[in-house]
Amino acid sequence: MSASWLVRCLLIFSAWMPATLPAAETADWQAAQGDVLTVHLESTPERPRLFCFGSSWPVQSDGRGGWQGWIGIDLKRKPGTYQILWKSEGAQTSQTLDIRRGVFRVSHIQVEKRMAEFDAPTLARIRSEVKALKATYTADVDAEPAIRMTGMPVNGIVSTPFGAQRFVNGEPRSPHSGLDIAAAAGTPVHAPLAGRVLLVADMYLNGNTVAIGHGNGLVSVYSHMQSVAVRTGQWISDGDVIGQVGATGRATGPHLHWGVRFRNARVNPASLLPDATARLEK
Ligand SMILES: [Zn+2]
Repeated sequence: MSASWLVRCLLIFSAWMPATLPAAETADWQAAQGDVLTVHLESTPERPRLFCFGSSWPVQSDGRGGWQGWIGIDLKRKPGTYQILWKSEGAQTSQTLDIRRGVFRVSHIQVEKRMAEFDAPTLARIRSEVKALKATYTADVDAEPAIRMTGMPVNGIVSTPFGAQRFVNGEPRSPHSGLDIAAAAGTPVHAPLAGRVLLVADMYLNGNTVAIGHGNGLVSVYSHMQSVAVRTGQWISDGDVIGQVGATGRATGPHLHWGVRFRNARVNPASLLPDATARLEK
């Protein structure tokens, strides 16, 4: 019996021990609010299903006989220890996940009164636009992408980071659920992953907005654009131009707001970039 064969057997055995064993002293996985976590499982006879926070998450082969899965940790997920469950025919195993508080900045913006206080018709318009955008987060898209982005959608400087606690004209608002990238008006915006255009809308607060469904519950949103170059229902390839940077809606200058939802969790787009660590430190 070769040593590597023995190690492999032990790994398979340890991965499939019943979930009744005492919990490990340290968590199997660690992540912060807003992260997309990649988890692994050693080889199992068939594709396992992955569960966390009461939802299922995508699983793909890791190309080496094992499996990898992705879990989106919402910006406001309560810090603490959670259980990750892998299930396959007649077997299951659990791992632990420690979530720590994200380190987020505070951001103040000053805007015209009409962009901070709304009359009834404007409020009704905003609500219906938000409802249409939210519907895209759970739309079915027939594609199975790797859960990642190939790069930034626009060349520019991150002006407001993900998760920033927002104050608009001094009043606290929802945390910033995307990345703002400042760039000259007219700069092309490229889709950082192939997908289907789920929404094109001229929104009161978000301005000209495009939502792209990539499959597997991964949806990216681009706002405040000067113009839009795609239409609803269109399939687009990685790198296609979807619009131009602008300052439409509630914006203090030309920039792109780039948001990502992963199975409805508000996650940091930067955590899906190839050089995620470097980007996150910006
Ligand atoms: Zn923004």
